[in-house]
Amino acid sequence: MIMRGLTMRCAFCGSRGLFQGWLKLREACPNCSHRFNQESGFFLGAYAINFAITEGLLLLALIPYIVISAGNPQTSIPAAPFAAAALVGAILGPVVFYPFSRTLWVALDLIFRGGRNLDV
Ligand SMILES: [Zn+2]
Repeated sequence: MIMRGLTMRCAFCGSRGLFQGWLKLREACPNCSHRFNQESGFFLGAYAINFAITEGLLLLALIPYIVISAGNPQTSIPAAPFAAAALVGAILGPVVFYPFSRTLWVALDLIFRGGRNLDV
């Protein structure tokens, strides 16, 4: 089920085509008709997943600079390339991982709550 979420497939039936474009999740699965946005605030968990991934990207970009700087206190290395990498990660990361965070959240909802569907 997690793999279905990570590959942007429906957690319930495994079908694809859940998005209209990169950022627009359909109201329901085109195959099994499961409604994704079940209640107001349902995708707050997807936001948290996307936020955590973005923070991880920032750490991946900045930790090498910190480690290199701490290991060589006499030498000064430029921070600009690391800051630029962090900036790119902060801007592109949320956009790139947005659909994955949504489908992953639907899969986690199915695992932990049984995917309760209020309308069906
Ligand atoms: Zn489905």
